[in-house]
Amino acid sequence: MPGETLDAAVVAAQNLAQKNIGSVFTHLGENVADRSEARQVTDHYLQVLGRIHQTNLSTEVSVKLSQLGLDLSPDFCFANLEEIIRHENGKSIVWVDIEASHYVDATLDVYRRALAKYPNVGLCLQSYLYRTKKDLADLFPMKPSIRLVKGAYKEPPDVAFPKKADVDANYFALAQDMLKAKREGNCVRAVFGTHDVPLIRRLGEYVVQQGMPKIDCEIHMLFGIQRAEQERLARDGFRSVVLVAYGTYWYPWFVRRLAERPANLWFLLRNVFAS
Ligand SMILES: Cc1cc2nc3c(=O)[nH]c(=O)nc-3n(C[C@H](O)[C@H](O)[C@H](O)COP(=O)(O)OP(=O)(O)OC[C@H]3O[C@@H](n4cnc5c(N)ncnc54)[C@H](O)[C@@H]3O)c2cc1C
Repeated sequence: MPGETLDAAVVAAQNLAQKNIGSVFTHLGENVADRSEARQVTDHYLQVLGRIHQTNLSTEVSVKLSQLGLDLSPDFCFANLEEIIRHENGKSIVWVDIEASHYVDATLDVYRRALAKYPNVGLCLQSYLYRTKKDLADLFPMKPSIRLVKGAYKEPPDVAFPKKADVDANYFALAQDMLKAKREGNCVRAVFGTHDVPLIRRLGEYVVQQGMPKIDCEIHMLFGIQRAEQERLARDGFRSVVLVAYGTYWYPWFVRRLAERPANLWFLLRNVFAS
């Protein structure tokens, strides 16, 4: 994280923009307790979009539906998401994060409702889930924007590949589906949210082999992780974007991520010492 405040995130985005690296803002937090809290989160994102437009940044935002009240009421959550999308200028995408597997159906329902009305909304999907291939295929006729990730939650083996090698192999297979859909005009933005450098290189080679413009291959990474690779991608003509998380909720968020997946600590330490 560049800091806890929106100001710190804006400074980080301006610095990234100088290196031709885009940015996406996300305000840390999840699972609000009541409607007023979800309302506050919505108002915060409206303020963030106002600030982005004011500063002429091309930054986008990424929201968690559980923060917009999905547990309280899908209709209420949809209304909050809709307000955020309407506040966007129509060119930038409002991204929707994907959470634990028991949220996937409800998230897809809200996403489909939003996409039916607004083309500028994107969804994150996880390659560790067996269901994702079908979820993607079902979405392509609606011309979605997709950010593919491996998945961050601890999931049981009946819903997710237990072996990392299978998650990685499925990632590349799904990425090929997304790039094919992109070529055919059925995927507005094909985004790959990963720090896996060999995988990123493979994706880049695949895009070139297919004769697609490099800019169609969009790689999103977290702030401060694999910085050299973020800069290399931007220099080489790929679209390189950094997800900038900020807010005061980082400690509970980090502890929860650790409890769900202790390997995250190892990733973090390796990168702190590598950067
Ligand atoms: C832009 C973006 C958006 C995301 N959105 C979601 C989402 O909505 N839902 C969801 O479930 N998950 C999300 N994730 C997290 C994702 O699911 C993975 O848990 C995470 O990115 C690690 O997988 P990897 O693809 O980087 O590959 P891995 O094979 O897990 O890691 C490759 C290498 O990257 C480095 N690395 C990876 N992650 C980290 C880290 N956190 N800290 C330090 N180093 C790291 C390590 O060196 C590691 O060896 C997002 C990730 C990114 C980059």
